Amino acid sequence: MSDIIFVVNAGSSSIKFKMYEVKDGEVAPDASMAGLLDGIGVHPHIRVKDAEGGVLLDKSYTAAEIPNATEGKRILAEWLRPRVGDLIIGIGHRVVHGGLSYSEPVIIDDKVMETLESFIPLAPLHQLSNLDPIKLMRERRPDLPQVACFDTAFHRDHPEISDRFPIPRAFYDEGVRRYGFHGLSYEYVSGRLHTLAPAIGAGRVVICHLGSGASVCGLKNGHSIESSMGFTALDGVPMGTRSGSLDPGVVLHLIEEKGMSAHDVGEMLYRKSGLLGLSGISNDVRDLVASPEPAAAMALEYFALKVAQAVAKLATSIGGLDGLVFTAGIGENSPEVRQMVADRLKWLGVEVDPAANETRGATLISAPGSKTEVFVVPTDEERMIAIHTLRLLRGGGHI
Ligand code: ADP
Repeated sequence: MSDIIFVVNAGSSSIKFKMYEVKDGEVAPDASMAGLLDGIGVHPHIRVKDAEGGVLLDKSYTAAEIPNATEGKRILAEWLRPRVGDLIIGIGHRVVHGGLSYSEPVIIDDKVMETLESFIPLAPLHQLSNLDPIKLMRERRPDLPQVACFDTAFHRDHPEISDRFPIPRAFYDEGVRRYGFHGLSYEYVSGRLHTLAPAIGAGRVVICHLGSGASVCGLKNGHSIESSMGFTALDGVPMGTRSGSLDPGVVLHLIEEKGMSAHDVGEMLYRKSGLLGLSGISNDVRDLVASPEPAAAMALEYFALKVAQAVAKLATSIGGLDGLVFTAGIGENSPEVRQMVADRLKWLGVEVDPAANETRGATLISAPGSKTEVFVVPTDEERMIAIHTLRLLRGGGHI
């Protein structure tokens, strides 16, 4: 049996994990096991599959059995230990915030843990959920190296002009900046693009990460220059249930005139807005594409327009557009949304080949004469974490 890198992506109501074998000194291309615990505290459910998609565990629990994420992690750990416990050589964690300190993944020790805890106010829900399994594993298996991989790290070398808000400098100095997120996805996709189309990968590229969270990133030669997401993962294009950018005066109005609490405004902007708020029907693009309701069509139109505007804005920041890449749940699976975005960018030299766009698994989807080459590149944030983890274990002399 091979050594295993274990990857954890822990949210507030769900925990995803994947395992990658180390073969010939490299992280295997596909996960050998993948699991999801969701519905924590409501309808908890654990599903684990092997590399071929075979179901290893598919079990529902009562809310009393898994009332919180800590209990969920304990139950998952009990199930995993006899199966793979001895083979795991390191654990890689997705951690949303690396603050100003980390532009690279890092091996976790006491000092790092303290620093990561100091970032909790920057992303309260996410950061706490991410750090929780790290703490648990440090107690249970202090011998096992753990690595934190950050959503913000890929964007850390932005020029100041990309990271400032036009508010007094003191706030910037204390950390109120445009950090940008989805960095592990952009790093992975950009690396794949360098392999698939080296000349484009070395040029001016905008990647659209369109999943339930969505953002757009402008890159030059594989380096992030600017992202549509800012201080929080609420900024930029509209998402499944998040609003994206909004006139800040609306927030002031809701609090001062409508008497909403900051908490209620947050709930609305994070959970009831975006495609769901626009359509009043669903946050899922599949439902909206299938719906005959005009509100569903309007929500899709709105989404496509805002994504296209974000691409054009970032093309300005990087001085042109050699390549446009779609990735994540919507970007990889919705030819309708890709076509709608591309149609709004024709003036910029983007021309999609409709047949290629409709072909499942096609990588290059632009028409032969298109000034900008358009790609669909599946993302794999977990594999990126596994690659970083193995690299750091080696560098740190752990293996
Ligand atoms: P996350 O990892 O942020 O939860 P994903 O990248 O998995 O999100 O994207 C989830 C979204 O992808 C869903 O909300 C849905 O709108 C969209 N999606 C998934 N499959 C399809 C599909 N076949 N057609 C259109 N949209 C899809």
